[in-house]
Amino acid sequence: MTTSRREFLYGLGALGAAAMFPIERTEPELILYNANIWTVNPRQPRAEAVAISGGRFLAIGSNDEMLPLASGGAKKVDVGGDTVLPGFIDAHNHPAEAGLDHLRMVDCDLRSIADIQAALRKRAAQTPPGQWVLGFKYDDTKTSDNRPLTLQDLDSAVPDHPVFVEHRGGHTAWLNSAALKAAKVDENTPDPPGGKYDRDPATGKLTGRVRERAKAAIETVIPRRFSRDDRREGVKLISKMLVRTGITSATDALGSPEDLLAYQDARSAGDLSVRVYCSIFHEHIDHMIQAGIRTGLGDEWVRVGFMKMICDGSISERTARLSQPYMGRPNDFGILVSTEDELYQWGRKAHAAGWQLGTHANGDVGIDTTLRVYERLNREMPRADSRFRLEHCTVINDSLVQRIHALGAIPTPFSTYVYYHGEKMKEYGAERLNNMFALRSFIDAGIRPTQASDYPPGPFEPMMALQSETTRTDMKGTVWGPKQKISLEEAVRVGTINGAYASFEEKLKGSIEPGKLADLVVLGRDPFKTDPSQVVNIPIQRTMVGGKWMYEG
Ligand SMILES: [Zn+2]
Repeated sequence: MTTSRREFLYGLGALGAAAMFPIERTEPELILYNANIWTVNPRQPRAEAVAISGGRFLAIGSNDEMLPLASGGAKKVDVGGDTVLPGFIDAHNHPAEAGLDHLRMVDCDLRSIADIQAALRKRAAQTPPGQWVLGFKYDDTKTSDNRPLTLQDLDSAVPDHPVFVEHRGGHTAWLNSAALKAAKVDENTPDPPGGKYDRDPATGKLTGRVRERAKAAIETVIPRRFSRDDRREGVKLISKMLVRTGITSATDALGSPEDLLAYQDARSAGDLSVRVYCSIFHEHIDHMIQAGIRTGLGDEWVRVGFMKMICDGSISERTARLSQPYMGRPNDFGILVSTEDELYQWGRKAHAAGWQLGTHANGDVGIDTTLRVYERLNREMPRADSRFRLEHCTVINDSLVQRIHALGAIPTPFSTYVYYHGEKMKEYGAERLNNMFALRSFIDAGIRPTQASDYPPGPFEPMMALQSETTRTDMKGTVWGPKQKISLEEAVRVGTINGAYASFEEKLKGSIEPGKLADLVVLGRDPFKTDPSQVVNIPIQRTMVGGKWMYEG
């Protein structure tokens, strides 16, 4: 121990309640003071100032305790009383894919069909004839027109280029006539198994809407070649979008080896603004296992995540597998995408090789099926800390919650759906909503649910997540499933430390504590003093990742 370090630690005795981390760099580089800090550390929940060194929190305490640490060249930043929270962790997102979408496609998250037409027309004007104009994030329930897009809308906007506009949920798309022609689809084309080319019931003419495997068939004719540079650029773009909302870590919930490479390339180029936990879809798992790779490999910027499997359908497009039918569709229980045996076989080899498992399971039947697989693996090959993940884990009941708790599994429910997708909730019914996105039930049972956007399908803004989770109220003021409301303090924990736990990083991040990575967000208003219905409008002032300002508003 050097003299200076000993003196420093000795001096700490006088700091009273200040928390310190004994690392070799004893001089902070940066001190943030005059802040309203919610640390998410139960031993020291509130503070005024924080000292940062080497990308980590060095000490946390009052202004009077921290400011004297600023010897030498330490920079002092007066936060002006603003609220500081740990950086948010989005535990289920699709950053690499969304980044490419934003690079290449027209963002159709617009409020009228005329606006969508204008955006497509503008892109077409910059696109060589014959090349595709692609749109994404279109949502039929979000335009003021009260009707979905039509073939005619797209033809009149863009007559000479093939146009493909994907629904925000990802399972359906809308085409113009040039696109149908390019894909060689006409009125005589039969629907593929598991897919549909929608037709006007009166005339039999194609409407331009395609579903599921018919959409997949169209996608095979759209040239989609991405270079390694494109993928890196996509990650650069999306990570900038995430960090400006206060997100400092994101999990890629359907990753591939190419995505893993893209994150590493972006990081090497200095273009990665958020930390990434990259899952690997089960189709790629054999190569990964053969290469000796498993969950946890990497570092605090890019880390190999869990192996991803998919059990059932989607919530926003109303195909999750339920024990009780959808409202108004007595024979529709949703779909199971994989069999229990498939999940078991895929899961077994990855579990045996030391991987964390994460399975998309939305409906109560999907969750029950997935839990049976996990419970069996746990019996046959017990592991001390497997942290099985239930991706989405939307529709629950008491017995499922007990089993999740007994297994120590982690649910990652949609955080912004109640607020943002409220108009779709009536198909589940008011009663079922009390058992959906069930944060209250999970927390009361001692389970650690996370914040998760599933972007693009759900918005990722953490302030929207906080409002959605605490008010259970949609944009129009309708309350969905009030029994699942949680407090703001709980919602902040869900969005920070619980996300860190889901990637085995709770000792590294998720709270403002000495020794942890210096990831934090400075808010323009204190959410604890804001009307709960206005939290979504709180501006983000600055976001710090690893001691550096990655976003400054
Ligand atoms: Zn997802």
